[in-house]
Amino acid sequence: MIIIQQPSDLRTHLAQKQHSGATVGFVPTMGALHQGHLSLVTESLKKTTLTVCSIFVNPTQFNDPADYQKYPKRLSDDIKLLENAGTSVLFLPSTESIYGSKPGTLERYDLGYLETILEGSSRPGHFQGVCQVMFRLLKAVRPEFLFMGRKDYQQCMVVRHLLRIANFNTGFVACDTVRENDGLAMSSRNLRLSAEERQRAPYIYRALREARKHLKEGRLEALKSNAITDLTENGFVVDYFEFASAKDLTLLNEWDGRTPVIALAAAYLGQVRLIDNLLLHE
Ligand code: AMP
Repeated sequence: MIIIQQPSDLRTHLAQKQHSGATVGFVPTMGALHQGHLSLVTESLKKTTLTVCSIFVNPTQFNDPADYQKYPKRLSDDIKLLENAGTSVLFLPSTESIYGSKPGTLERYDLGYLETILEGSSRPGHFQGVCQVMFRLLKAVRPEFLFMGRKDYQQCMVVRHLLRIANFNTGFVACDTVRENDGLAMSSRNLRLSAEERQRAPYIYRALREARKHLKEGRLEALKSNAITDLTENGFVVDYFEFASAKDLTLLNEWDGRTPVIALAAAYLGQVRLIDNLLLHE
């Protein structure tokens, strides 16, 4: 595995490889890697001939400065994990090489409805930051395929939208959520949970599974309030627990018994904000 820090060096390296027939798969991350991230690398290895992974904690997507400051960092472990997983190139840019030394006002993206709900409304500016960094990373990598996790379901939709509006010729591959044995979705932020919070964290997945078990045609309020009560009783401060169309994330108060439906949750345990989701009906 080679490590490249400058976007222009990465572009030059990959242009040569692509010219000689390589298909590039790209796995963007913010580091503190776990099996969820590595599963994206595995998917990329199956579908492409050269896997590029990036580690960049993007300041513009954090609406909470404390969350940015406390974001876990484990670079030497990450390098070993990526090397063992079969990554060819680790892209490790500095903030300056991505945004310049004097970042002015950054560009804005028209994300429409997607930015007004769930993570969009709870974390103002978050998806603008995601698009600002993804645009710059994608310009440097120009991958044939991009691999991202369904754990961040709304982010997958936002980035698909970005690929379309910015005319990237890149296929999007959404990968399944990897969970701990007790059901907790793997996340770098889990490292910040206390031992006691870590015990309670799987309730978020349990609440989603309960919703799936009891889903039936008609109004969804009772399912939603049961989930919120269950989580609150187990020490969570719930940000949202919603049902939405799995196709376009239109929020649903009622289910027609046919529409593919997903439940999405965000909740705090202490200072740590966890998100998860589950497809209830395909
Ligand atoms: P992050 O480092 O949190 O920005 O995540 C980088 C990529 O890994 C994103 O595409 C995430 O959706 C994906 N990811 C994070 N956690 C998981 C997980 N538990 N299972 C699968 N993919 C994940």
